[in-house]
Amino acid sequence: MESAEIRRRWLSFFEKRGHTVVPSASLIADDPTLLLVPAGMVPFKPYFLGEAAPPAPRLTSVQKCVRTPDIEEVGKTTRHGTFFQMCGNFSFGDYFKEGAIKLAWELLTAPAADGGYGLDPERLWITVYEKDDEAERIWRDVIGVPAVRIQRLGMGPNFWSMGVPGPCGPCSEINYDRGPEFGPEGGPAVNDERYVEIWNLVFMQYERGPGHGKEDFEITGDLPAKNIDTGLGLERLAMILQGVRNMYETDTLRVVMDQATGLTGVRYGDAEAGDISLRVVADHMRTAVMLIGDGVTPGNEGRGYVLRRIMRRAIRNMRILGATGPVTGRLVDTVIDTMGKQYPELITDRSRIQTVAQAEEAAFLKTLKAGTNILDSAVTETKAAGSTVLPGDKAFLLHDTWGFPIDLTLEMAAEQGLSVDEAGFRRLMREQRERAKADAKAKKTGHADMSAYRSVADTAGPTEFTGYTGTEGEAT
Ligand code: ATP
Ligand code: MG
Ligand code: MG
Ligand code: MG
Repeated sequence: MESAEIRRRWLSFFEKRGHTVVPSASLIADDPTLLLVPAGMVPFKPYFLGEAAPPAPRLTSVQKCVRTPDIEEVGKTTRHGTFFQMCGNFSFGDYFKEGAIKLAWELLTAPAADGGYGLDPERLWITVYEKDDEAERIWRDVIGVPAVRIQRLGMGPNFWSMGVPGPCGPCSEINYDRGPEFGPEGGPAVNDERYVEIWNLVFMQYERGPGHGKEDFEITGDLPAKNIDTGLGLERLAMILQGVRNMYETDTLRVVMDQATGLTGVRYGDAEAGDISLRVVADHMRTAVMLIGDGVTPGNEGRGYVLRRIMRRAIRNMRILGATGPVTGRLVDTVIDTMGKQYPELITDRSRIQTVAQAEEAAFLKTLKAGTNILDSAVTETKAAGSTVLPGDKAFLLHDTWGFPIDLTLEMAAEQGLSVDEAGFRRLMREQRERAKADAKAKKTGHADMSAYRSVADTAGPTEFTGYTGTEGEAT
């Protein structure tokens, strides 16, 4: 089943069951706690909190999502992308646990001929929050899932919040058993590659306070209503329904890998290292196109830096695969051709997206070679000094003068067996930012002698390294 059909079936199934179809919101979150949208519920947050009335008590959407914290997984696990599409159904004070569980089961297991996805019920494993007896009872007694295929898990995986104050609640996940070729049995609690998580049903009924991450926080109260928020990964279901081992082998991503093969001659399936690079290229180029499509432009802070980092990583992986000239144009075209079927605005916007992407590639290629030489000599020096840690000032120089995002430096250093003094790097970034701020203030008030700051301000610009895990949030 093609990705487009999976999406169509999703929306039509829920529309027929009283849900209003809502188009995907922009990836640029309309929410000060987030840089980018990491989950389908984000545009509906005010409805959960009772701050605004939803247009209808039941909604459904297929939301574009970006999760930069998953970047390290890309290409290495079979199921993580930085961009993916989350199919969701939502109830605001309408149906709750039993309603959501019944709907999910029906859609997954109904035969394809009847509009379902036709999954074999015996391959579905369920997880519930360890204290949620009610959810377990529904799965076992109402749906009839054998008790051995229902597992109880703790807060980390099975109590959903965005990692920041806001709505939260226990959740229940549906996982698909891909069989013994993906490793030992034992259910999703022990093997998440074999029992791949496809759908998370969140019973959104509480509000959480600040605290830390997803486990260490206090529940500050009940939401005005008991709600449902679910998210199913479109690419993950496509992987299962298309009978491929890896989400990068599904219809919308495979063509991008094939384009990368066309440009480099490296074939998918020949060697693991090449395969990882091909997946990284396919993922990152797609994410870049979707971000630029939503109006992000490469820069040194916030979303712009996420985009820059992702693009530069893709371009470098193309070099590793053997590309010598510019490659972005062809890859961007392929992404637009395939994603344009579901997001026609990409096609209308093709030339702008191309201009932004190719300008970033040109800027990076200008400094990549010189920066690589700098890095190589820094590595040699570090090793000669008997150390395994590349100094923070080298990472800073590479960032500041040669446009190397820190993770690129980390990655290239690691390839040569070194780590990087990241704390030192961050300190220098902070100092530079403070100098730039002081400079801006002095300019405003006219109190200071500008000359001392000029050289810094001229090269620095507004630079902020906020890390990638901080404000983007990530679901469990
Ligand atoms: P995982 O444990 O596999 O990292 P998750 O628990 O972080 O997934 P949720 O926050 O529950 O994911 O998101 C709902 C659904 O979105 C998941 O069940 C999965 O199908 C999909 N999904 C989550 N992260 C990704 C990703 N990086 N790439 C593709 N699909 C994803
Ligand atoms: Mg989950
Ligand atoms: Mg999970
Ligand atoms: Mg995750």
